[in-house]
Amino acid sequence: MVETQKKSRWSKKSLSAQAMGKIDARTKAVVPPIHISTTYIRDADNAYSSGFIYGRPDNETVREAEAVLAMWEEASSALLFSSGMAAATAVFMALRPGDHVVAPSVMYWALRNWLMTDAVAWGLDVSFVDMANIDALRGALKPGKTKLVWVETPSNPLWSLTDLEAAADWTHAVGAKIAVDSTVATPVFTRPLSLGVDIVMHAATKSLNGHSDVIAGALATKDQNAFWQRIVSNRKNFGAVLGPFEAFLLMRGMRTLDLRVHAAAKTALDLAQRFSNHQHVAEVLYPGLPSHPQYALAQRQMIGGFGHMLSIRARGGEAAAIATAANIQLWKRATSLGGVESLIEHRASIEGPGTPCPPDLLRLSAGIEDVEDLYADLDQALKKAHK
Ligand SMILES: *Cc1c(COP(=O)(O)O)cnc(C)c1O
Repeated sequence: MVETQKKSRWSKKSLSAQAMGKIDARTKAVVPPIHISTTYIRDADNAYSSGFIYGRPDNETVREAEAVLAMWEEASSALLFSSGMAAATAVFMALRPGDHVVAPSVMYWALRNWLMTDAVAWGLDVSFVDMANIDALRGALKPGKTKLVWVETPSNPLWSLTDLEAAADWTHAVGAKIAVDSTVATPVFTRPLSLGVDIVMHAATKSLNGHSDVIAGALATKDQNAFWQRIVSNRKNFGAVLGPFEAFLLMRGMRTLDLRVHAAAKTALDLAQRFSNHQHVAEVLYPGLPSHPQYALAQRQMIGGFGHMLSIRARGGEAAAIATAANIQLWKRATSLGGVESLIEHRASIEGPGTPCPPDLLRLSAGIEDVEDLYADLDQALKKAHK
């Protein structure tokens, strides 16, 4: 956990490129060393004057990476976890059995599954609503009972948006907290805390790291209130901490966050526009298209880009979608998102029975390759699937 430094005169892009500019005091190394010690010397008088006692809660490399994220999210504190799921479940486990929570009916599948099964078994009362519809959220709130509203925007895999400002207002009106999975938006394109959200969650595995080589999760908070303190103690006691090597890799990834996500979002927008007019594509789902039902909200809520995630629905249904993925040569046929390499995935078959994902949908994560190559490859794959 890290406290945010006082406001810097430098921009987020500058601070991030230099990972907050910290220089090693003795060697003057520009890149800080990785701290791997699991334990720290205790003073002769039994005090711990360094403030570092034991490696599970206390690691300098982890704190350095947390400081970069806290800066991006304009948070008073940030915490890294061993995965996105560890970060998300730490928020729900800070509630009490019997508490009511509202979550999106279409959201990251693994977390939705956990909410429908283990979270309910543990005692949470979970309502799923269409979070694109603020009236549906309002109707689901139970004054006195609802303790948390969980939002994901843009949400997997249809990329519908939630109006964070309105959702935060209605949530706070019943005395609950609101948390948002902002993995797809990234801290570059949306600033949830400035819109009234209490806690931001990231699967840092995705765009924050950006190179498909670290599993990590993160939370950032506006206030270090009692609820946040329970989350801090959950991380310490459940032990879902990030290792120092992963924290270092994540910090290295975040140095190029701004460059990568702008490049990938530009590519995603270009592909979304071009495939909207493709003979073998029935529909393109992307918040940056004027045809998106929440385009006006996307323009208001997202800053400088609409993200790197889009989906296409193949003409010819599920068989055509699967054949298209099979024909791909440059894109990588894989799950996950937010890396520098572009990924394509037939989403319904990975989510399995009961998924709200249409069977003809291909989920695309745009990377930073040449957009002409990405277009040409998907174009040939679609055409071959329709031969
Ligand atoms: C990947 C992902 C998660 C889970 O993160 P892990 O690091 O895989 O545990 C949560 N939410 C979203 C939107 C994701 O894409």
